[in-house]
Amino acid sequence: MAQKRDYYEVLGVSRDATEEEIKKAYRKLARKYHPDVNKEDKDATEKFKEINEAYEVLSDPEKRAQYDRFGHAGMGEGGFSTSGTGGFGNFGGFSNFGGFTDFGDFGGGSIFDDIFDIFGGGFGSTGSRRSQSRRKAPMRGADLQYELEITLEEAAFGAEKEIELYRMENCEACAGTGAKAGTGAKTCPTCQGTGQVRQAQTVGNIHFTNVTTCPKCGGSGRIIEEVCPECNGLGKKRVARKIKVNIPPGVDSGSKLRIAGEGEAGENGGPPGDLYIVVRVKPHKLFVREGDDLVYKVPISFVQAALGTEIEVPTLDGKVKLKIPEGTQPGTRFRLRSKGMPRSKGRGRGDMYVEAEVIIPKNLTEEQRELLEQFAKISGEDVKSSSKGFFGKMKGAFGV
Ligand SMILES: [Zn+2]
Ligand SMILES: [Zn+2]
Repeated sequence: MAQKRDYYEVLGVSRDATEEEIKKAYRKLARKYHPDVNKEDKDATEKFKEINEAYEVLSDPEKRAQYDRFGHAGMGEGGFSTSGTGGFGNFGGFSNFGGFTDFGDFGGGSIFDDIFDIFGGGFGSTGSRRSQSRRKAPMRGADLQYELEITLEEAAFGAEKEIELYRMENCEACAGTGAKAGTGAKTCPTCQGTGQVRQAQTVGNIHFTNVTTCPKCGGSGRIIEEVCPECNGLGKKRVARKIKVNIPPGVDSGSKLRIAGEGEAGENGGPPGDLYIVVRVKPHKLFVREGDDLVYKVPISFVQAALGTEIEVPTLDGKVKLKIPEGTQPGTRFRLRSKGMPRSKGRGRGDMYVEAEVIIPKNLTEEQRELLEQFAKISGEDVKSSSKGFFGKMKGAFGV
């Protein structure tokens, strides 16, 4: 159900509206939504009620001041009145509001979170707000995260991995009750099983009933007579679990995979959380990933680069032959179509780029040196050998 609307919003006036403005807005709306005028329209009746309620508060300076300070929670004599006439009695749909016994049905009820925000901030109430807000409400278990390292090949083609992790699971010995098998739990005498205790509180001229979690039973409403030795009464146990993880093709470092229901056990019969696998792809010894593409740097000699050749290059799918044309420049990239990673968007695979790393020879032999010098001479290059070797000096001396 929807949360109670802000009274100013209901009347369509600003928070600093004058009494006159409020009155005017009310009259206009009241005329429009009056049940006598809108006999068929059920919504109009509801609206009319809402308008009247808002006007009742905003037209009264004292009530208005309270409302400004505490919002809807500050309305009504009893605050948390169970009678149906106080502030919370008007929450439509909560007709059985007495005793808060229905709280469990409203797992994530925002209304109550808001209420306890007000209490927590305004009155410094004790204990955690969350635990106060509902008794025995089923709560979803926490999510778990696991970092999984995989190879580039596994990222490319997918893989089935098995991981081991520790997580809280419901204790099987006691079926999560925390009571030793064969023994029961009795109703908590402090709260008579409601899980909550009430405390009247007066701040200024406002009376509140502060509802807190029963300290005796921790809000469960039941007290265990003999605790389960397996889980020490927790109802849960930390256990090691092996879980199979299917890695789909195309994941990258940082990819998150969600495995529903493999997180921590829930509370009070709530569902378990999820398990998130965060993928980390190990660096590959040959290939560097660039998005959907792969880059492989292949060393070729300067002679191969100059004359052209055919080489074999590794890919994720095995070796392939690649023609290096003559006159290949250092850093030239050759594309091998569809030899990359599966495309993260769309179908098919990226490409692999083979980058020519032209190796300049070091430590030439005398014969190699002579040939290169001869080559330079034919090319019309003026090469001054920087060699300090014996032959180099000799040649220099003879003017060769
Ligand atoms: Zn147990
Ligand atoms: Zn209790």
